[in-house]
Order: sequence, then structure tokens, then C-alpha cells
Amino acid sequence: MDRGILVLNSGSSSLKFALYREAKEALALAAQGEIEAMMTQPRFAAHDEKGAELAKHAWKAPIDAETGFRFVLAFVEKAYADVRIVGAGHRLVQGGTRYHGPALVDDEALTYLDGLSLLEPQHQPPEVEGVRAIRRIHPDLPQVAVFDTSFHRTMPEIAQLYAVPKSVRDEGVRHWGYHGTSYDYINRTLPKYDPSARRVIVGHLGSGASMCAILDGKSIATTMGFSGIEGLPMGTRSGAIDAGALLYLLRRKLYDDKSLQHLLYEESGLKGLSEISNDVRTLLASDAPEAKQAIDYFVYQIVFFAGAYTALLGGLDAIVFTAGIGENAASVRAGVVKQLAWLGLELDEAANKKNGPLISTGASRVRAWVIPTNEEIMIARHTLTLVDKKR
Ligand code: ADP
Repeated sequence: MDRGILVLNSGSSSLKFALYREAKEALALAAQGEIEAMMTQPRFAAHDEKGAELAKHAWKAPIDAETGFRFVLAFVEKAYADVRIVGAGHRLVQGGTRYHGPALVDDEALTYLDGLSLLEPQHQPPEVEGVRAIRRIHPDLPQVAVFDTSFHRTMPEIAQLYAVPKSVRDEGVRHWGYHGTSYDYINRTLPKYDPSARRVIVGHLGSGASMCAILDGKSIATTMGFSGIEGLPMGTRSGAIDAGALLYLLRRKLYDDKSLQHLLYEESGLKGLSEISNDVRTLLASDAPEAKQAIDYFVYQIVFFAGAYTALLGGLDAIVFTAGIGENAASVRAGVVKQLAWLGLELDEAANKKNGPLISTGASRVRAWVIPTNEEIMIARHTLTLVDKKR
């Protein structure tokens, strides 16, 4: 019987799962699926590794995470009777100052993670509840939490600070950084392409977008800060904005805390700037000057941080583009690479059009790469490693 790892992502209205099975000492995707609209009309669908549909189900009334996961586990146990699930790996957004890497979760850890909920009230509570739900169903199944923040705990203390009094910093107001699982994956994958790259900038450019400076395999700076708003503009998130402007909007009572949150997370970024779409594909296909300006602002901010991070790294060996936009939007990459020509970066136009992997020329002093990210397999690998360590 092959060993299997379940990778779980619990949201406030959806549960996503992926089953990885161990074959020839490597983990490979076997199935993935989702329960959507848990709070209204829940629907389950699962597909195999090639995308062929395996199963579907619908409920007439809302369900909770435990009911959803019982269904998922029953499906997996029946459809993959030759796989023995040895661990569950959960994606969690916040690991606080305690977790500098993935960790096995017990009751004491869950209490600590609950305590971080106020920092990330949208994501952390359903993610912690997902771990609890699996514990109720399978109390003895080892469970591992993989945190978006932990990859950045290697950042020098100075990079984690905000210049506010200690009493405020002690409330958790610090530069946490996110997308850590994606950076971890790229950091472990890049040496296969570019073994000598020590000073690296990675752009995780998806509907959420951030950048990370990695020196000798460790994060030293990242654009997302206390929350997932800071740094680059995103599909619908603003990116960096002067806190004084937010105080102004509150003072004038144009917004309150709820509507301001909605503005900054849902109505800003590429969507807010263009007033056309949050999707880069739509913007690139549009002739509207607002669409062009939104993309130009996105590229401008990437170039801005690339310059800053090159200074922090003391030079640059490689830049990596990943996630939906980074992996697919050749013109966005071209815009960034061309504006970094002063660094000795030279674009290979043909390779860039084909999405890489290497998109810089042989003469380029800095290498530019397109490497698809894979957060799920990273979670599966960490989970198996910790399960094996525990035994
Ligand atoms: P998520 O954060 O939701 O996982 P992704 O990493 O999948 O996001 O990125 C989604 C975004 O990638 C889309 O909103 C779109 O802007 C962009 N994208 C996807 N495919 C393409 C493409 N072929 N060309 C340009 N942009 C693309």
C-alpha cells in the first residue's frame, strides 16, 4: 500500500483538498477537489491528477468543516483504497513569532494559533477550525501546519520592524510577510536551474502579489507586511498606501473600518486603478488607457522594489517570476526586465514569449527565470517529513 498525504486548505466558505501519494520515494498528486459554497448550497467536486472528474455531490443545506471533511475523507478512502493516509498538512496563514517552519500540531499549538486570529481574522479562524475538525474525525492522524509567515522569520529584526512604540509592536504590529510556502518552494527549486545564485529576488505575482529578497536561501525582505495589503498592488488589493490617507478617509467619515477594509482588499489594486478588471489578461487585451496605466503601475512597483532589494542583497544573481501573472504574462515580465537593464539584465524575447524557464540571454549578467510555483506539493513534502520524524 502506498502512503498518502492530504493537503487541506480551509476557508470561511470553502474546503480545498489534494491527495498526494508516495510512489518510488516521491510524492505525486493523485486527486484534488473542493467543497464550495459551504454556507449556502455546498457542492463537492473531485478530479484526478489529469483533471478528469472523479466525483460530484451537492447538499441542500449549509454544512460545517467537520461534515465537509468527513465527506472528503470518506471519498478518498473509497476511491483510493490502496493508499494509507499517514498525515494531513494544512495551509495556515499565521505562525506568529513561534513558528519559523512547518510544525506538528497538538492542542497546545492550536491554542497558540487561536491567539493569532485577531491578526488575520479572515483566514486564521477557519484554518485552525480545519485542523480541529480533522482531529475530531481522526484523533490519531498526525497533522502539520505550514505557515505563510514562517519563511520570513529569518529576516533581520530590522526588516521586521515598524517605527512605532514597543507597546504597539508587542501587539503583533510587525512586518510578517506572506506567500512563504511559495517562496520556500521556489527557493528549493531554483538551485536545480541556477546552482550558483546566492542573491535572488522572487516575484510571486498572482491575484495576490508580493516579492521576496532571498540571500543564501533565506528571506531577508518581503513586500507584504503586517497584512496582505502592503507592497505591490494586486488584483483587488491596494498595495502600499500612506496610512495618513486612510486616517483622512476615516476622519471625513467617507469610510468606516468595515468599508475601508472592503475598499483596500476588494476594490483597489488593478481593479481600482483601471475600473475595468482585476484580471491581467483582460487588462492586456484592452485598449483603454486606464488598463495600460494599471499594468504600468504594477510594473513600476515591481521595478521599484527590485531596485531596493538589489541594494539590500548587495547585488543580484537572479530574478524569478512565479504565480499566475509571473508564469504567464510575458509583457509584464518584459516590462520589468527591460527597466532593470541597468543591472546588466538582458531579455531573451523568444524565450520570454514561451514562458521560459530561462528568459535572459547568455550575455545577461543577471539571470531571469520563470518557475511555476507549487504550494501544495511543498505542504505535502513538509508533512511527510515531519510524520517520518515523529515515528
Ligand atoms: P491566486 O492568487 O488566485 O492563486 P494565481 O496565481 O492563479 O492567483 O494568479 C491569477 C492571476 O494570474 C489572474 O487574475 C490573472 O491576472 C493572471 N493570469 C493568469 N493567466 C494569465 C495569462 N495567460 N496572461 C496574463 N495573466 C494571467
